[in-house]
This record gives sequence, C-alpha cells and structure tokens, in this order.
Amino acid sequence: MREPSVQFVGDPRFLAHRAPPGHPERPERLDAVQSALEPVRERVACRPPRAATFDELRSVHDERLLRILAATRGGRDGQLDADTYFVAESYDTACLAAGASIDLVRDALRGGTPRGFAAVRPPGHHAEAGRSMGFCLLNNVAIAVRTAQRELGGPRILVFDWDVHHGNGTQHVFESDPDVFYVSTHQFPFYPGTGDHREIGVGRGEGATLNVPMPAGCGDAEFVGVVQRIVTPAAIAFRPDLIVVSCGFDAHHDDPLASMELRFEGYRAMAEQLRALADLLCGGRIVYVLEGGYSLLGVQEGTRAVLESLVAARGTALPAAPPLEPGSMLRSLVERTARIHGVRIPDLGAA
Ligand SMILES: [Zn+2]
Repeated sequence: MREPSVQFVGDPRFLAHRAPPGHPERPERLDAVQSALEPVRERVACRPPRAATFDELRSVHDERLLRILAATRGGRDGQLDADTYFVAESYDTACLAAGASIDLVRDALRGGTPRGFAAVRPPGHHAEAGRSMGFCLLNNVAIAVRTAQRELGGPRILVFDWDVHHGNGTQHVFESDPDVFYVSTHQFPFYPGTGDHREIGVGRGEGATLNVPMPAGCGDAEFVGVVQRIVTPAAIAFRPDLIVVSCGFDAHHDDPLASMELRFEGYRAMAEQLRALADLLCGGRIVYVLEGGYSLLGVQEGTRAVLESLVAARGTALPAAPPLEPGSMLRSLVERTARIHGVRIPDLGAA
C-alpha cells in the first residue's frame, strides 16, 4: 500500500489547555475534529506532535513574552487578557501546537508528505510578537512559516486565513516580508478591529497583504466567490511554494461568536479550490492549521470538508467562477479589492 500523502497531527495532550467553564475555546472542539477524521483515518498518516524549541518560538516572539508564558507552567490558573486564559498545562500545550505546525510545513517543503492538517489548540493567529491575545498564546502559523524560511532559504509561502476573525498577529509578523503573502477573509467590523481593505503591507511587503473584510451575513456564494475571484488570481500571481491555511471554522452558520452563513458545501468548495490551486502551483503542498471555530457542528463539518479534499486522489480542475451578478455583495467585494490590488494582480476579478 502506498504511503498516505496526507499527514494529520492530533493528540490528547491538546485537550489539556483549558479556560473557565463556558469559554467557547474548549477541548470538545477537538472531539468534533476527531469525529470528522474517523471516515478517512485509513487514508491519512497520523503523527504525534513535538514541542517547538525556544529558538523556534523566538523566530516570531519576543523573549519577554516567552518568559512570561513559560513562568505559567505548573502554576496557578490565570489570564493574559480579557478573554485569554491559561492553566498549568497551557504553555506546554501551546509549544506542541507550534511544533506540530512547524513539522507539517517543514515536511511539505522538504519534499516529504505534501498535505497536512494540524488539529491543535490553543489557536494562534491573534498572537502578536510581544503579546498573547484573543484565545491565542503563540502564533503557530507564523512560527512555522518563519522557521521554514530560516531553514530553507526563503520559500515563498501563501498564508490564507479564512478564520472569521482577522489574523492581526500573522499580518503584523509578515507585513514587510515580500516572500509571505497574507490573505484574509473576515467579518468586519469585528474583533480584533484590524483587517481594513487598505492594509496592504508595508515597505518591501507592500502588496503582499490582502484583506477582504466582509459584512455580517455573507455565506457560501460570497466566500467561495472570493476564493475563486480574489484568492485564486492572487495565488497564481504570487507563485507560492506552499499554501498554509489558517483554518478557523467560525464563519460557519452555527457559530455562536460570529454572524456568517457558511455551510458544509461552502467549506467543501473552498477546500477543493485550494487543493486544485496547490496542485497547479506548488506540487500539491498545502497545510491546514486549526484556528477558531466554536460550534461543534461547524468544526465537524468544516474539518470533514477539508479532509475530504486532502485525501482526494487529485484536486479537481479549477472550476469556472459563476458570473458576477450586478449589484451583488460578491461583485462589490471583488471590485473594491481590484481597485487596490488590481495593478499587481491583473486577473483579479476574472473567473
Ligand atoms: Zn476566529
């Protein structure tokens, strides 16, 4: 039997990080991931996580923050901001989440298993270099990308953040880096307040940050359309060596925090499009790292959609995008993005 071409990292140790009862970022989220894994378990290689080293964490985070977090180890419960909590096991759990993300990214870029899914907690994309926030202790995706850049001499990496919140931490880490293209779809205005469409990167990184803020109520048509008409031409223009997805499932219609309307079919269409893009552009290399998602149904359905796209023998061809209806929300999102990024991404808005 051939080696599976998909790696999955999950581990009971990711359950050890906890917040007070009633907090939406709870261990049961990973039970929902596991239930989605069950039907495809035979077709993926499950590997255990290892803890990221201090040196790897330091590729993104200030030593001062790392010392504060390390000091929580084995101690009393506490909190880092209004909604970001820790227990004695949280720091070690966060190090495992970062380590799992590093290993999948590294393996894909080094010619190992091309596709991966890291079912980790706590999430990462709000964590800034010097500050934990928004349920996130360490920025798993940023650490994985920075580590790969250091080791492998500047691979080009597209980070697509489809969590319903803007990934302020990831954007800030890479905003002046032309080799990391950060694209985010997010509800706006909404927590954490960043992610305006005019935030496009700074200095040499100008143009390598692309934000698609979306009003509450957007569903499959808008999200899938944005992936087809904005993310796809941006990826083709950027020519990545790897696609990393900051994979939150909180744009799901059942999510208790956000107000978007994505359904299983929408996640499936987005995941299939990304799989096809990875096959077209970068040898099939694509790694998903779990971020938010607070409806157990949403996490289960979203994970199922992603895993099914990853284990498929080959991605489908890039489908033609449906017409842009006059006056539609999708049309206004595409036109607004094209006004800002159309110079650098000539096909933006086309099918
Ligand atoms: Zn989120």
